Amino acid sequence: MSAHELISATASVLADRLARGEVSSVEVTQAHLDRIAAVDGELHAFLHVSAEALEAAAAVDRDRAGGAAMSPLAGVPVAIKDILCTYDMPSTAGSRILEGWVPPYDATVVKRLREARLVPLGKTNLDEFAMGSSTEFSAYGPTLNPWDLERIPGGSGGGSAAAVSAFEAPLALGSDTGGSIRQPAAVTGSVGMKPTYGGVSRYGAIALASSLDQVGPVTRSVLDAALLHDVIGGHDPHDSTSLTDAWPSFADAARAGAREGALKGVKVGVIKQLSGEGFQAGVRGRFAEALALMEAAGAELVEVSAPHFEYAIDAYYLILPAEASSNLAKFDSVRFGLRVNPPGGGTVEDVMAATRGAGLGPEVKRRIILGTYALSAGYYDAYYGSAQKVRTLIQRDFADAFAEVDVLVSPAAPTTAFKFGEKIDDPLAMYLNDVATIPANLAGVPGIGLPMGLAPEDGLPTGIQFMAPVREDARLYRVGAALEALLESSWGGPILRQSPMHPEAESNAISTKKGGD
Ligand code: GLN
Repeated sequence: MSAHELISATASVLADRLARGEVSSVEVTQAHLDRIAAVDGELHAFLHVSAEALEAAAAVDRDRAGGAAMSPLAGVPVAIKDILCTYDMPSTAGSRILEGWVPPYDATVVKRLREARLVPLGKTNLDEFAMGSSTEFSAYGPTLNPWDLERIPGGSGGGSAAAVSAFEAPLALGSDTGGSIRQPAAVTGSVGMKPTYGGVSRYGAIALASSLDQVGPVTRSVLDAALLHDVIGGHDPHDSTSLTDAWPSFADAARAGAREGALKGVKVGVIKQLSGEGFQAGVRGRFAEALALMEAAGAELVEVSAPHFEYAIDAYYLILPAEASSNLAKFDSVRFGLRVNPPGGGTVEDVMAATRGAGLGPEVKRRIILGTYALSAGYYDAYYGSAQKVRTLIQRDFADAFAEVDVLVSPAAPTTAFKFGEKIDDPLAMYLNDVATIPANLAGVPGIGLPMGLAPEDGLPTGIQFMAPVREDARLYRVGAALEALLESSWGGPILRQSPMHPEAESNAISTKKGGD
């Protein structure tokens, strides 16, 4: 395989070639490291590139040559969102307060990657503590969108999504508290899955809002997401919310979905509240086309109303800050990372205040203040208590909908990628990016996002999202793979072939910056 082929192949193709001995993990890993060296100076998807990737790859090659049994993705490189603890790489959560902090342990998902012999390439950029929709709140500077370098790659996991869509990594891990896997996937033409709450361990994922956080895959195909989910998922005794279920093979589900006829008789609920007002014309247009394709393939479309979804953002922005303000209290200048001594010294509180003042960015501070207020004795019932009630109503909307349909569908994000600076000073506009993704987090249900084509008005990727009942992640892989197969045959190949960053594109965006000379 040429270097171009190595970096543009899906993980499942790479895995097959590796298994057949047609290519080595060292070759695959080197090709990705070269790509990172060539483009990441500008793109800034990575905060840290592993110095040990080639060594890990060489060990996989050696063991494979020695006849060792290998898991399906052994030898395939993977990028890791920098919210996940890695014992051999700094783990900053995109914050100055954790600059240079190297945890003493691996997150369970990272440990599982290593046990399955995937090759960690490095840590990817994110909005500070995963708060944001654009990566503009990273303390280390934003990541650029590979489709248009003047635009945001989504957030908070913009680094993981950009790395995958710019061919720097075939696979990445993200975390999704309100959409941080699915929204970046939507605006970069990638696939992203938020598993059922409790389906993937949160141990070693630096907590944002513990009742909402889930770790999941960001990839270039539904099958790749399923393969990665098979590696990271399953019970973890270190996470008290981890489900003890025996999960089916998600890769088998994705393969079954790609077969003809997989959508026959599937009842798809189109959420009335999530496809009209506030959604860009091109997003609505592509969404209508995707629905028509599914219907032609035998799916039964039903309009479904979820009346309380309109309050999801309001409830989320009370529950998330409340939980975040408590989770972030541990960054106190004593236990982790940064310590700033106030001029002339002071009490321990003065040191904490100086450290948190210097080490935390504006969005994080905003949410800590909001959360502390919402939890304060006088306001707890009015704010946090009410938000929890709304959360229950949203869960009931899902239950009512799933009594009628197998999966729910909506666009994954209301618009295509917006320009840097466009929403940074307007928190409410920024929060609206997650209008379609937040309900799934509030209810704990799984959601998968995949590309549904380019918006005609700006030529940028749009994403579609399916949601299923709790524990029915396999159903999402089946339905997602089915739609992906229909769409790719209508486009004549994967959406990323149309990206200006595709290694074989005539004008590689990185050297012919849009709007440049
Ligand atoms: N954009 C949302 C927020 O800012 C989602 C964050 C996330 O999923 N981590 O909270």
